[in-house]
Amino acid sequence: LAARLAATRAANDEAPSMPAVGGAARRERFDALVVGAGFAGAVLAERLAAEAGQRVLVIDRRDHVAGNAFDHHDAAGVLVHRYGPHIFHTNSQRVVDYLSRFTEWRPYEHRVVASVGAQLLPIPINRTTLNTLYGLDLASDAEAERFLAQRAEPVAEIRTAEDVVVSAVGRELYETFFRGYTRKQWGLDPSQLDPSVTARVPTRTNTDDRYFLDRFQAMPAQGYTALFERMLAHPNITVRTGMDYRAVRDRVEVRHTVFTGPVDEFFDHRFGRLPYRSLAFRHETHERSQFQPVAVVNYPDGAVPHTRITEYKHLTGQRHPKTSISYEIPSDEGEPYYPVPREESRALYRRYEALANATPDVSFVGRLATYRYYNMDQVVAQALTTFDRMGRRPARSGIA
Ligand code: FAD
Ligand code: UDP
Repeated sequence: LAARLAATRAANDEAPSMPAVGGAARRERFDALVVGAGFAGAVLAERLAAEAGQRVLVIDRRDHVAGNAFDHHDAAGVLVHRYGPHIFHTNSQRVVDYLSRFTEWRPYEHRVVASVGAQLLPIPINRTTLNTLYGLDLASDAEAERFLAQRAEPVAEIRTAEDVVVSAVGRELYETFFRGYTRKQWGLDPSQLDPSVTARVPTRTNTDDRYFLDRFQAMPAQGYTALFERMLAHPNITVRTGMDYRAVRDRVEVRHTVFTGPVDEFFDHRFGRLPYRSLAFRHETHERSQFQPVAVVNYPDGAVPHTRITEYKHLTGQRHPKTSISYEIPSDEGEPYYPVPREESRALYRRYEALANATPDVSFVGRLATYRYYNMDQVVAQALTTFDRMGRRPARSGIA
């Protein structure tokens, strides 16, 4: 494996072996071009190379692989996630089995607290949250259910991200935990977003304070980037970072392209720009071993600009005399991170989707290319399914 990793790195450093100019210039040949080295691209590259025996060129315009899951040791030597906290959780055994070929795992259950006034309260809202916030002594699920039922404002039909929460816990808890956070995160009121947005965060009447309940919850033992390096260390795969699709597309000859960037960008924004929400990450290192009690503290208060602070050592288990954290400050400007789940943007996406469906030589996969608010495991599952389908397509655009 070490030799293969070295070979991948060498291929990576190698100058592109194609002539710089001229329509007559010979184009470099691969079976497939994979645009984007995040989960979507890396899974497809690995499957195409290892299972279908194809020669695959993987490019990414960033200077690294792993997409938004990229982690690295910062200047202080603390392992951090450059694009915010990435916690792996899934109920899919297929996804676990597949990724386990490339990594060992460190068991980790994610816990989050919300900073409200002077208190740090468990989120998702659970019985402890209610007891602490209101000075109560609700002793059972049934008591907590009764308490919430008195406050909940049932709606005939749940149509928005506001309805989801208000109908479950009432307006006061909605305003304390959801309204400000969501307005900051999306630049929209929860009443303007799909129910699926806040439905990601359930309400509990027990005292389970885990953020996720998935059967499998763990972090890659050596980090995400190491996982990606192992996925891409196949002799049939060439990785080139710092390369945009636009600069490469006319210089290579491929039978098939896998595109994992923003779908509207692929089609030159023909129908206008799809909204993607961005974040600014402010990374800091502190001269003490711990900054906050859990990995993530949420800030629902609309008066502070950040939505959450992450302290990475909780996620990675690293022991280090210093600690590194990051603030997330949402914005409309910057790299696309989140598709915006609401009818207007979905309607626009459907127009791009129709174009994508009419482009059989290109597979569109992943969070940006299929405009879906997917977690990592969902992207891996989507990529594995895409590969399965390619096998059933005619040889010209599928697997040879
Ligand atoms: P990406 O990881 O975005 O990869 C796409 C790649 O394509 C990028 O590296 C980009 O540079 C490249 N690219 C785009 N256009 C071009 C082009 N024209 N030319 C060359 N390269 C191009 N998921 C979880 O499961 N758990 C979490 O805790 C979690 N936390 C998250 C926190 C944040 C702040 C964010 C933003 C996301 C989080 N996610 C989490 C979601 C997770 O990041 C995604 O599901 C996953 O990374 C998507 O993989 P992808 O391959 O579709 O996209
Ligand atoms: N949310 C909120 N308050 C919180 C946590 C989440 O209002 O304390 C809402 C917010 O709209 C957020 C959504 O629920 O965008 C989904 O939260 P999640 O933690 O899953 O967001 P992600 O990790 O994907 O950014």
